[in-house]
Amino acid sequence: MRVPFYDIKAQYDDLASSMSDAVQSVLSSGVYVLGPNHNQLEREIADRHGVKHGIGVANGTDALRILMDAVGIGEGDEVITPAFTFVASVETVVQTGATPVFVDIETESFGIDPAKIEAAITSRTKAILPVHLFGQLCRIDEIKAIADRHGLLLLEDGAQALDSHCNGKFAGQYGLGCGFSFYVTKNLGAAGDAGMIISNHDEVNERCRSMRIHGMGRERYYYDHLGYTSRLDEIQAAVLRVKLQKLDAWNLQRQKLAEIYQRELAGLPLTLPTVLDGNNHTWHQFSILTDRRDELQAFLKSRGADSMIYYPVPIHFHAPYLKYGNGKGSLPVTERVCEQILNLPIQPHLSEDQIHYVARSIQEFLTSQS
Ligand SMILES: *Cc1c(COP(=O)(O)O)cnc(C)c1O
Repeated sequence: MRVPFYDIKAQYDDLASSMSDAVQSVLSSGVYVLGPNHNQLEREIADRHGVKHGIGVANGTDALRILMDAVGIGEGDEVITPAFTFVASVETVVQTGATPVFVDIETESFGIDPAKIEAAITSRTKAILPVHLFGQLCRIDEIKAIADRHGLLLLEDGAQALDSHCNGKFAGQYGLGCGFSFYVTKNLGAAGDAGMIISNHDEVNERCRSMRIHGMGRERYYYDHLGYTSRLDEIQAAVLRVKLQKLDAWNLQRQKLAEIYQRELAGLPLTLPTVLDGNNHTWHQFSILTDRRDELQAFLKSRGADSMIYYPVPIHFHAPYLKYGNGKGSLPVTERVCEQILNLPIQPHLSEDQIHYVARSIQEFLTSQS
């Protein structure tokens, strides 16, 4: 049996004729940027998350970068981030001229550990940028309370957390703004790159909106800020709007597959993912921890089942970021998770049989050779 980790073509096959129609209609309209699909997508994503504003941008990295610029993060500032994340969360902090300050994670949400934040706060700390990894919110209520207590800005990296909430309060409702990515492999993926900022704050909205088109003000060719060229193309918006019609069904399937893993892998010598109290989980990833990770991955591969390691190396070990960290041993949980984590296939075009097959293969590996 083959079990592919991602199957983007299957998403297209699900929606082939409506997707082709949508793209064709954009092409024939001659409106390729900031058009009706783009505007409606902004509305739809903001509404899904119960916030006032959605600002389409070219990708999730730009969403974070523009958001940070819009709230005035720059040289001399420190921004608290995890080192267990996709590089963009930290890369964008460095790009603003600010200094990332790494705080270790906890293994239930894989997000920043609130208990370790206060020790990292200095007189230069300007913001906290927590990341909602793998499809559920991190301990954002506690993190927000710390940010409020210390007068720090709170920004959210929600690139993997579209539709994720805690007790009905969605990603983007906690901070000044939240960045999303519609990169191909995300739960809602474009046919290329796309991203969005969402925010409840009118001023942040105005600034981001202006910055994505060179910092232009209300009047054309008058510039208020230093800006970017970062638009979400109309064709991508059309593709995303078609896929959005299936997102609930796809996420439901992810949930069903996750339940199979949880049931079938219970009791084995590995750590299953935890869902925090009050959280929904959209299962962007299904992550297990095992100290035999590399062997298990090779074994699964020999059985035709793909798996991925998110993330094999913590950010503070990569050359451009060494100077912001304190080396090996400084973030023990992050470093251990990078050695033990394995992400199992859970994309919505897998069948229950395929998940049973992966689970049985893991059982076989862990019971016969340990
Ligand atoms: C995907 C991702 C990003 C960046 O999004 P792009 O659209 O690829 O630029 C940022 N942060 C996290 C956590 C991500 O997973």
